[in-house]
Amino acid sequence: MQIAADSRSVPLRRRLLPRLARAFFIPLSVLACCFALHSQPQPASAQAEPAKHLLIYAIDVEGGQSTLLVSPSGASLLVDTGWPTADGRDAARIQQAMRDAGITRLDHVLITHFHHDHVGGVPELVKRVPIGEFLDHGSNREDSDITRADYAAYLKAIQGKPRRIVHPGDTISIPGLDTIVLTADGEHIASVPGIQPTPNPYCATEPKWDLDETENPRSAGILVTFGSFRFLDLGDLTKAKEIPLVCPNNLIGTVDLYLVNHHGFNLSNSRAFVDAIHPRVAIMDNGAHKAGSPEAWQTVHESPLLEDLWQLHTAEDSDAAHNSSAALIANPAGAKQDGAYLKVVVSPDGSFTVTNSRTGQTKDYPRK
Ligand SMILES: [Zn+2]
Repeated sequence: MQIAADSRSVPLRRRLLPRLARAFFIPLSVLACCFALHSQPQPASAQAEPAKHLLIYAIDVEGGQSTLLVSPSGASLLVDTGWPTADGRDAARIQQAMRDAGITRLDHVLITHFHHDHVGGVPELVKRVPIGEFLDHGSNREDSDITRADYAAYLKAIQGKPRRIVHPGDTISIPGLDTIVLTADGEHIASVPGIQPTPNPYCATEPKWDLDETENPRSAGILVTFGSFRFLDLGDLTKAKEIPLVCPNNLIGTVDLYLVNHHGFNLSNSRAFVDAIHPRVAIMDNGAHKAGSPEAWQTVHESPLLEDLWQLHTAEDSDAAHNSSAALIANPAGAKQDGAYLKVVVSPDGSFTVTNSRTGQTKDYPRK
């Protein structure tokens, strides 16, 4: 089992690295970096992980969002469903992640907002997968034909199925996890249970951002807590709605894993927001030619204490200085095929791993 092998390798690495560093006069930090990714590529697990882990899959839906969470209890939450395609590509990729996690149904599907790349996959998904309930922020608020059409297609697809409109402060019942709604329909939570709001020094230099009139700032966003581990997914929330969460006081605290807002568009990811939550690890669900803006990449990359910024694709319209190394990219430019995902396995003690399904390589983030 891959995870058992991971845990055995840590003490060995700790013993060997200082000796190697002394023997070859190499800075320990350089060796630690190179040895952090497991040197023996292993295929991503094809079977369910032991029940004690939380699994998070950032599924490649080519610049849309689809994120699968499977709790230690086996209960599941899918955040968004990707795009509509004639061949059901994104539903198939969601099913691939479900098979890896060992589940056959989805207990909850949260639609963050009614844009094509988030809600578009629902009609195909409901044909293939049993779904317990749909959650969303309420009616479409965007005055555009395409979004009206997507919202209508969504309502038709979920007709007769349980639907719940969520508001800030609501919880999503997933045994083993604490899942709370932070934002929905342009509103945000006043305080997060257990978090003492703290003044945010980054607010002073943050510009004032205009509110965009799309569905993006209406995104239903969640904070998921598993033991000491905290995961933040705010959909496509844009800057004007990020700021009230962290200015003048940071209401969220810090997070271990941040699904980068809005696929890494520079309409989102204000510095005052990213620096306040300063994630340990970030995953950017960009496409090859969708989002992954250099400015947003830089802001996330420079956030205090960030260890790694993983990407679902190389941002091919950006440059090498604003893309992570190939090992941290699920679908790099020139890869034979797309569809590789990033899989996060979280232990109850807060340590976690990220596996690139393309390479089978896993990186450890030990308990702090
Ligand atoms: Zn989007």
